[in-house]
Amino acid sequence: MQIDISNKVIVVTGSSRGIGSEMIKCFAKENASIVINYNRSVEEATKLFKEIKKHNSKCIVVKADVTKCNEVRYLLDKTLEAFGRVDILINNAGICDDNLIPLMTEEKWKHVIDINLNSIFLCCKIFAKEMMKKKYGKIFNITSLKGQIGSEGQTNYSAAKAGTIGFTKALAKEIGSYNVSVNAISPGYIVTDLNRNNINKSNIANGMNVMMYPNSLNDLLNFMVFACSDHFQSVSGRVFNLDSRL
Ligand code: NAP
Repeated sequence: MQIDISNKVIVVTGSSRGIGSEMIKCFAKENASIVINYNRSVEEATKLFKEIKKHNSKCIVVKADVTKCNEVRYLLDKTLEAFGRVDILINNAGICDDNLIPLMTEEKWKHVIDINLNSIFLCCKIFAKEMMKKKYGKIFNITSLKGQIGSEGQTNYSAAKAGTIGFTKALAKEIGSYNVSVNAISPGYIVTDLNRNNINKSNIANGMNVMMYPNSLNDLLNFMVFACSDHFQSVSGRVFNLDSRL
């Protein structure tokens, strides 16, 4: 099977670092048109952009805080200005800010919900309208196993990721008739800045996997390339768990 995504315009939110930047590098190699988005990590985003520009000129970088409506609109406007359309939106931006419930401040709770869940509402609201107009689009919302099984010290993160799944299923029903699909992707445990210092030094990473090598980054990247291609057309409202946890 030939998998070709060179005709796709793909936006990855929160792609200055971690999993987002890995997706960008992978899509760039596949010669897709790509939009790097960052909020605070200007140096990392600029470095990534320069690296990609060497072999793929179809790349732009846009600063936008995905929790702010006007900045998400700006992200869409810049994408349309550069490429004329958007085919795929990957809502990847996310943070952790852990504490046990008696110590969890309201501020910490709201901040994590805002970046992990409210941002997905905003990005979907703004990008889906454009996709619905064109009668084509795919949205992937990055969730987590922690939103399905819970994780101590991470009630805020677990709630946001569980909310992402409900949101994905509801939106899929709303906009499927416009040929816009919405799916949730739950990556396996991948060490990044996000989880290096978690309270719960993830039991997901250690000894609870069926497979010997629980690092599933490559599986995630390969899956995403396939899912962005035209071979993946009629699936929506689903959650894909890309791990091997017992
Ligand atoms: P990471 O290395 O900490 O990267 C997080 C990214 O999110 C950064 O590029 C950051 O950009 C961006 N971001 C944060 N707030 C933002 C905002 N307001 N606006 C725009 N971008 C923002 O984390 P990661 O591990 O790659 O996680 C990526 C996604 O995968 C998250 O949704 C996470 O929940 C999910 N996930 C991760 C794992 C794992 O094991 N790592 C497992 C399951 C799910 P700036 O630094 O530029 O602000």
